Amino acid sequence: MTDKYAVIGNPIAHSKSPQIHKMFAEQTNQDISYEAILAPLDGFIETVERLRKEKYKGCSVTVPFKFEAFNLVRALQDAQPMQGVCNQLATKAGAANTLTFHQNFVNGDNTDGIGLVRDIKQNFQQLLKGKHILLMGAGGAASGVLQSLLHEHPKKLTIANRTLEKADKLHQLHAHLSQAELSTCTYSDLNGSFDIIINATSVGLSDIEIPLPSTIFAPNALAYDMMYGCETPFIKFSREHGAQVADGLGMLVEQAAEAFFIWRGIRPNTTQVIAALQIPW
Ligand code: NDP
Repeated sequence: MTDKYAVIGNPIAHSKSPQIHKMFAEQTNQDISYEAILAPLDGFIETVERLRKEKYKGCSVTVPFKFEAFNLVRALQDAQPMQGVCNQLATKAGAANTLTFHQNFVNGDNTDGIGLVRDIKQNFQQLLKGKHILLMGAGGAASGVLQSLLHEHPKKLTIANRTLEKADKLHQLHAHLSQAELSTCTYSDLNGSFDIIINATSVGLSDIEIPLPSTIFAPNALAYDMMYGCETPFIKFSREHGAQVADGLGMLVEQAAEAFFIWRGIRPNTTQVIAALQIPW
């Protein structure tokens, strides 16, 4: 029997996840279906309950529901008897992007950080160990990847955000996790240069250009924008200053591959899927 999966978001029409999981399933001979589901902004929990009743095996969760997904599983975790658990990455991020439905139990995972790190290390052949990293943003995406970045033992990691308090909160939550020099600042206080600069803000598609000093790029720096499919102002600025540039398509595919592995126990090949979805920009 075909096992059913889905991605829940709002909006969702743009999602590439159904295409990605279809390619993974064909490649690995898995009998699954995977559809995109638009949940009302106040209807995430009801949507998950419906999927569980209809015997779906799991779902991906995207904007704006990752925090709600985490809270849902935490509530199940606190229930008597326990009906859910979040893994460590989801717990630290306070956000879940992958839910797995068992008969009376739900697992919550966050695969964004694993996806980003795999893309940088495997697809862009850049080591994170010993490097100076700048993480721009302190929202859901930044908090989802921070722990995985720190696990790679960078020398220094700076979180820059428009609202300094949010960056400070992330700093507090993660400071004990790593030997890295972890610091925070606003964009106007940025100084020094970085080997890897990750844009995890949501300014991507807009014309807004975050004012960055041109001195932030170390020689051979990689500028990584989590946004994908177009040349963002950040990518343009980074290219003009000699950095190698990358968009977030690889992260999207790699985080999906990790979810597929959690659900199916098989790791799909991501290289051909990334190549198939690449749009020249
Ligand atoms: P959030 O809304 O949680 O966070 C938004 C972040 O952007 C905050 O740090 C916010 O700063 C900052 N920001 C927004 N507007 C401005 C501005 N005008 N100037 C400076 N900073 C600004 O969004 P997410 O973290 O969930 O998503 C961020 C991006 O990451 C999105 O583009 C999303 O598509 C992408 N993403 C990509 C993934 C992939 O697989 N490729 C996976 C997950 C996310 P402040 O705190 O000051 O408001």
